[in-house]
Amino acid sequence: MSALAILGGKPAIDKPFRKYNHIDEAEIQAVNKVLQSGVLSDFVGARGKNFHGGRQVQAFEQAWRERFGVKHAVTMNSATSCLAAAVGAVGAGPGDEVIVSPYTMSASAAAILVFNALPVFADIDPDTFNMDPHSIEERITKNTKALMVSNIFGHPADYNRIREIAGKRGIKIIEDNAQSPLAEYDGRLAGTIGDIGVFSLNYHKHIHTGEGGVCVTNDDGLAERLCMIRNHAEAAIEQKEAASLTNMIGFNFRLGEIEAAIGIEQLKKIDRLVASRIAIADGLTRRLSDIEGLQTPVVRPGCRHVYYVYAMKYRPHRAVPRNLVVKALQAEGVPLGAGYVKPLYLQPIYQKRIGYGEKGCPFTCAFHDGKLNYEKGLCPAAERMHEEDLFLFEPCKHELSEGDLDAISEAFHKVFGGLDILSQLNGQ
Ligand SMILES: *Cc1c(COP(=O)(O)O)cnc(C)c1O
Repeated sequence: MSALAILGGKPAIDKPFRKYNHIDEAEIQAVNKVLQSGVLSDFVGARGKNFHGGRQVQAFEQAWRERFGVKHAVTMNSATSCLAAAVGAVGAGPGDEVIVSPYTMSASAAAILVFNALPVFADIDPDTFNMDPHSIEERITKNTKALMVSNIFGHPADYNRIREIAGKRGIKIIEDNAQSPLAEYDGRLAGTIGDIGVFSLNYHKHIHTGEGGVCVTNDDGLAERLCMIRNHAEAAIEQKEAASLTNMIGFNFRLGEIEAAIGIEQLKKIDRLVASRIAIADGLTRRLSDIEGLQTPVVRPGCRHVYYVYAMKYRPHRAVPRNLVVKALQAEGVPLGAGYVKPLYLQPIYQKRIGYGEKGCPFTCAFHDGKLNYEKGLCPAAERMHEEDLFLFEPCKHELSEGDLDAISEAFHKVFGGLDILSQLNGQ
């Protein structure tokens, strides 16, 4: 085998991989039709015929309901908007706590702050990287209003345990399913298990509309509240009788007709696109599972993993830190990252407890009678993944052939075969 590229040898991969691009003539035609109609959005922020949006938005929502087998699908302009709307819809507010993973996109936790509720971070399961039900249970207090459960990287969280914990206490479950469309847990689609599920349609996800998101629920009341928050609730609530005013300060979270028209075409492709990501991941696992020192992704029995992220774990070779292995792999041409996100409670807003205005709201809210902990060491498993263990490869970024997978495999075998050489490098 040739010398490691990090030491000046020839890289295992000599050209960048082809980008994942699944926009074609179907989307172009659909967009043209909308443009020709002149109606680029057909929402009006008052109750009436246009409160629920235009033809494309409504057709897209119907198609989404059918594919996911849910009673309601409410589109929005991003999953971030959907997450905030979901927190508002379940009624969380000042003094309430919502338990969330620190190892998820920042928006999962920020959505809680939008309604002045407080994120409480539970640690993750070091094999699936999802919130650990045991840690959730430890974090529950009388103030816990909801759980914000991310199905991270494409693998569903442990819903049998999570539903048991939440159900007996009347705690709502919001699923952040942005990374896991068509993932399954015990034969059920991820995102349809909790009270509200949120999907993302941003450019980086399995399917996309540029920007966009969808909330799903089987609860008529929650669906109604999501539609209100999406579309100027404060103006629309007047015409509704006997509705709760809680969190009925609305936004404009509406999706445009162009994005919805793209979404209809993308949804037709979702099974094929998800299957292609799984095939890439399976191809990697077949090639990499013999490498000592590397743990390929774990799939729990009864689960379907859809590999938004192909997360591998480094079983530390004491003398070679993960970040050096990542550098060596990158030098070979593997587009790989070290860790995912810094555990969210280590972000400045939590460390300094500055949110709305300058007085510490909502962290110092007088209606909150609990104790908040955002200290380093709070979630040791998440911190270890970030600092030491996790290799991050993103199958939704590239279109990979069998030949590309062979080249990636060669790069990994080369670098892991050269760990002793790297350890000398590290010792210098
Ligand atoms: C992408 C993502 C989001 C945000 O999605 P947007 O549509 O970009 O707002 C939220 N949560 C997770 C876990 C994500 O991966």
